[in-house]
Amino acid sequence: MASAPPVFDDDMDPSHLAELDFGTAFAAPTDCPDCGSSRLTAQDAGDRTDFSCDDCRAEWAFRLGRIVRVTAGHAVPEPR
Ligand SMILES: [Zn+2]
Repeated sequence: MASAPPVFDDDMDPSHLAELDFGTAFAAPTDCPDCGSSRLTAQDAGDRTDFSCDDCRAEWAFRLGRIVRVTAGHAVPEPR
């Protein structure tokens, strides 16, 4: 049984344009997202690079272009 084709509103333009700054999006973090300190230290964490803040001691990892907090002693959850 074939499903019904999707219905589109002809008055709506389904396209969307956004400017993407890939250089910024994929650059290493420079500021702690928590306290704003620029004293982030890169740390070799095996197959990835983590970052720790020298001021507030928060630890961060880079996932899919986003910086996420790492809980000490716990693995970083992989995005699904
Ligand atoms: Zn910090």
